[in-house]
Amino acid sequence: MEKNYPLHQLTTLKIGGPAEVVYWPQTKEDLATVWQRAQEAGVPVWLIGQGSNLLLPDEGLPGVTLVTTSLRVIEWGDHTVQVEAGYPLARLAQEAGERGFSGLEFARGIPGSVGGAVMMNAGAHGGTIADQIMNVTALWADGTVKKVDKAELKFAYRFCSLRGHAWVLEAELMFSPGDPKEILQDMKKNLTYRTRHQPLEKPSAGSIFKNPPGDSAGRLIEAAGWKGKSVGGAQVSHKHANFIVNTGNARAKDVLALMEEIQRDVQLKFGITLQPEVEYLSSQFEHRTSNFEHRKGG
Ligand SMILES: Cc1cc2nc3c(=O)[nH]c(=O)nc-3n(C[C@H](O)[C@H](O)[C@H](O)COP(=O)(O)OP(=O)(O)OC[C@H]3O[C@@H](n4cnc5c(N)ncnc54)[C@H](O)[C@@H]3O)c2cc1C
Repeated sequence: MEKNYPLHQLTTLKIGGPAEVVYWPQTKEDLATVWQRAQEAGVPVWLIGQGSNLLLPDEGLPGVTLVTTSLRVIEWGDHTVQVEAGYPLARLAQEAGERGFSGLEFARGIPGSVGGAVMMNAGAHGGTIADQIMNVTALWADGTVKKVDKAELKFAYRFCSLRGHAWVLEAELMFSPGDPKEILQDMKKNLTYRTRHQPLEKPSAGSIFKNPPGDSAGRLIEAAGWKGKSVGGAQVSHKHANFIVNTGNARAKDVLALMEEIQRDVQLKFGITLQPEVEYLSSQFEHRTSNFEHRKGG
């Protein structure tokens, strides 16, 4: 457990003030116990995986910030895997590929955890994690732990119906049989594509906005003339207009201001309201994740 821990160390954007307390649960039971105790004491609780889709506030977070990255128990089956929430998705994809398990080729370059990937329904190159999910074991807001089959869950573009209701403790995924060489070759191709088209050399949170139906956020932002523009230390990447990069000293307020300006301008020029993909956790909302949209709504 760490007190006054700098949150910027927990996100790929490298932004965020001090967390009152950060705790890395070592087991699922440990996580559930801390949640229960914090609930009883009325202390806010926040959950973070690899912090690769997060914008954390400059003023920091009150209460306890739980980081799942130590929850890494994994058990391979016959074209299945049972894996805890903190396991890195890209590593899972690579290991599946080496076994000749096909299905996570899209995920090799996504820097999130399994839990974060389920919650965001992470996807790329035409695949999503929802395609591979069999069931999810989750901690519900009332403190119970329950396994739910995929049929009971609703997944959509960057959405899982557990959002706001439960935290992912582990998931069971299934694969199709494949040739390891071909699977790993596909992954390599996807990684090369990313290196060419995304600013991986700079801190970012991946895509800032969701793609609107039938269009691409990057195309719209670029067409509106935003590539390279900045507010403070937050800059629209020259390489990919839907990435905001931290040029060194960006603050959350810079990113939020840039997002608002882009949203307003794209709405004005193309009549499309871009919806944030990045999650903004704000201390206004206790015991739940909250995002930019909530913040704007007050
Ligand atoms: C360079 C780069 C490239 C990216 N490319 C892609 C891409 O191609 N496709 C894509 O979909 N995403 C992409 N992302 C975004 C990000 O990697 C994914 O959304 C990822 O799934 C987030 O996982 P995380 O562990 O980092 O979650 P975090 O960022 O830590 O958290 C994101 C949200 O999930 C919640 N959460 C985290 N863990 C759990 C859990 N165990 N249970 C419940 N809720 C949880 C958090 O509270 C938060 O609301 C990219 C990011 C970067 C930086």
